[in-house]
Amino acid sequence: MSAEATNEQSCAACGETFLVPSAERQFRRERGLPEPHECPVCRMTLRAARNSELIGLYQRSDALSFGESTLASDRNGSTGSSRPATRSNVTKQRYNTVCAACGSETQVPFIPRGDRPVYCRDCFNARKGR
Ligand SMILES: [Zn+2]
Ligand SMILES: [Zn+2]
Repeated sequence: MSAEATNEQSCAACGETFLVPSAERQFRRERGLPEPHECPVCRMTLRAARNSELIGLYQRSDALSFGESTLASDRNGSTGSSRPATRSNVTKQRYNTVCAACGSETQVPFIPRGDRPVYCRDCFNARKGR
């Protein structure tokens, strides 16, 4: 009677009773580990909290080491830096070219290639509007 009852444990965190599998009990006894005080759900939650604490420590050390050299964080990528990519600067880049229709100098947001005619804004809109 009591032998089976000892497999039932009440969670120290949420107070729910849960069963400790005799295999786990034996496993813990063999390794000299204490018996579980929390139900599996709470144990997972506690573990996750501990992990997030560790991750938080890592992120903090990352922030410290990358505070001065932003190039390193850009190259690593996997650090998940919150820094926006440098793409916004690239899209602002404009290239000087000559309009294929009116011959006036204009600027385009892409590298003009020889295989396609490039138009100034006025000519481009005029062609599109038709
Ligand atoms: Zn619990
Ligand atoms: Zn033009």
